[in-house]
Amino acid sequence: MKKQIKSYLIDKKIRFLDNSKIGDFLTMHVGGKVGFIIFTDSNDELTELLEVLFPLNQKYILIGGGSNIVFPDSGKDLIVIINNSSEISMEEENTLKVNTGLKNTDFLEYCKNNNIAGFEFLAGIPGTLGGATAVNAGAFGKSISDKITGGDIFTEDGKFEYRDKEFFKFEYRNSRFKYGKDIIINIYLKFEYDTKDSIKDRINEIVKLRTEKHPPYSSFTAGCFFKNPEVDGKKLSAGKLIENCDLKGYETDEAMISDKHSNFIVNKGTAGFSDIEELGRKIQETVKKKNGIFLEREVIFVSPDGDKF
Ligand SMILES: Cc1cc2nc3c(=O)[nH]c(=O)nc-3n(C[C@H](O)[C@H](O)[C@H](O)COP(=O)(O)OP(=O)(O)OC[C@H]3O[C@@H](n4cnc5c(N)ncnc54)[C@H](O)[C@@H]3O)c2cc1C
Repeated sequence: MKKQIKSYLIDKKIRFLDNSKIGDFLTMHVGGKVGFIIFTDSNDELTELLEVLFPLNQKYILIGGGSNIVFPDSGKDLIVIINNSSEISMEEENTLKVNTGLKNTDFLEYCKNNNIAGFEFLAGIPGTLGGATAVNAGAFGKSISDKITGGDIFTEDGKFEYRDKEFFKFEYRNSRFKYGKDIIINIYLKFEYDTKDSIKDRINEIVKLRTEKHPPYSSFTAGCFFKNPEVDGKKLSAGKLIENCDLKGYETDEAMISDKHSNFIVNKGTAGFSDIEELGRKIQETVKKKNGIFLEREVIFVSPDGDKF
């Protein structure tokens, strides 16, 4: 099977790495060698590859920027697709069609240059539009689900079809795609117009706020590790709950809780999957004991046989 896939990739001139470390492509840098890392640069490459893998019954995981996910220390049979499709087009009035491999930074640049407003909350969130959609990324009270009207999907039963927003099953930092197998190829986003200067000002303001509150982008993290829990209809800050347990800055040999924002777990350089998992568990147990509140993980884990959980 591996041979068959390899000849297909070579034949189609699709970039790939064989038996390489996936951690190098993730912001938290946690993940060992996987069977293939395949880089698709267009929707044609991506959809054709999916059509080839589907009948082979071959498990694969598609990622974007790898900024919300950690992989096991070894997964020699895993196939990881890194989606780099990045086209944008204006569909009809006030709707954009966007390839899901487009990076948030490039999207915001496009928005700024074309007076397109409403996506400033994505400033400073690493990753791609596909990843943002799958995890329903957001900040400052806004999330990508507010903007999506639908998408072109490669469904888990091998069909390529348009589906409207209801299909996405959006929740707070969740959708059917986060742990599921359907792949989003394009999303459709509604937008408003505003002046370039106002858009630029809002982006700069958000970036400034984030720089003050978050650890630097050079640290190996995957963003907020836990979701903010809701208690009696009120959202609480997971970071504050962790801080109140005197865990801010707590360190093990391999990982630490950021001393700038307690909801960020930082890989000190060589952390493996179990180092992160154990520190996460310690936080959950400590917060539960002190406050009776269970912190649900926001960062995605992948098992050695390719299941997201
Ligand atoms: C410093 C830092 C700050 C952060 N701040 C925020 C924040 O403020 N708010 C926030 O919400 N998040 C934040 N994050 C987390 C992360 O950046 C976001 O969740 C981001 O949107 C994930 O996008 P990605 O492309 O990196 O997804 P990945 O990590 O690559 O993938 C995430 C999930 O999406 C799935 N996926 C990716 N693309 C597709 C697709 N096309 N079709 C189907 N499934 C797909 C993957 O399989 C996986 O399940 C932060 C992370 C870091 C490192």
